[in-house]
Amino acid sequence: MSKFFLEKYSTLDAYVPGEQPQDRKYLKLNTNESPYPPSLKVLDAAFKEASRLNLYSDPESKALTDALASSFGVGPENVLVTNGSDEALNFAFMAFCDSIVFPAVTYGFYPVIANLNGIPYREIPVTSDFRINVDDYIGIGDNIVIANPNAPTGICLSVSDIERIVAGNSGNIVIIDEAYVDFGAESVVPLTKKYDNLIVTQTFSKSRSLAGARLGFATASEELINDMKTIKDSINPYNVNRMTMAAGMAALADSEYYIANCREIEETRVYTVYALEDLGFEILPSKANFVFAKNPKISGGDLYRKLKDAGVLVRYFDKPGLTDFVRITIGTRSQMDTLIEKISEVLS
Ligand code: PMP
Repeated sequence: MSKFFLEKYSTLDAYVPGEQPQDRKYLKLNTNESPYPPSLKVLDAAFKEASRLNLYSDPESKALTDALASSFGVGPENVLVTNGSDEALNFAFMAFCDSIVFPAVTYGFYPVIANLNGIPYREIPVTSDFRINVDDYIGIGDNIVIANPNAPTGICLSVSDIERIVAGNSGNIVIIDEAYVDFGAESVVPLTKKYDNLIVTQTFSKSRSLAGARLGFATASEELINDMKTIKDSINPYNVNRMTMAAGMAALADSEYYIANCREIEETRVYTVYALEDLGFEILPSKANFVFAKNPKISGGDLYRKLKDAGVLVRYFDKPGLTDFVRITIGTRSQMDTLIEKISEVLS
């Protein structure tokens, strides 16, 4: 830390993303990326747009906002396009939250953005089987953020459960982070038309194979979106670059390709769960493109290290209550066969 770093940031515990080591070629099952490349139409659209990179991007992201609005059945005034959904989350925290609650087991970025913005937060325990108890959130008198499906568990809440939380906190903001919603859960975007305190964020990073392009968005009432735009325009008006916007539009237009990939990943998830169960793993019920798994024969940390030595990266969380587990991204069928083979070797 330099002597110039402001005191208010001195205790900041920055988010540590899943590692992206460059020392050798790994089978990467640690950051929930899609194993499938962007579609050819997306590559073509991004390439064509590259010739206009001398010009700033549209600060309103109008074409993409319109396309998102029509594909999600909301108005363009209900959509804000962002640089990954992390940015949408940050804007929502900054705009609306002077304090916030979230589940004790969830996406590690929430406490980081809260700390960055000086927002006090409270963690609500999950049940012994890692579920969110909806009743804990009704009338809680605070802003709420919940990932649905949750990370790193993959467990999801139903639309009616989320509606109870939103309706039960009408004086506060409820943010539902749907980063993994396309792998078998149901979106609550339609509820944004009914509730003026609901913000839903989604990303192109997982189901749409664009993690490296950094594209996300928020949907909410026009008033909430306008407030978030004020934050965006005060930080980075050109928050989404031209190639990403073009890629995002083409990805939306090519939804069959992405829907087919999601179904494939769901099938591979079932296949992986059976194979891991055969090896003695216990796995939480996941509706995401990852599974959270533990094996009584080996700690999460040991399994993570041994798999890394064997060329396979999975995610390990060195946090109380999570150390038995590893989180494994669902890749292609053949990638999962490699994983199973390496795990069998480690266990024997
Ligand atoms: N929410 C959750 C629960 C996530 O796991 C992630 C990915 N790390 C994100 C949001 C953010 O993803 P992105 O910024 O790539 O859209």
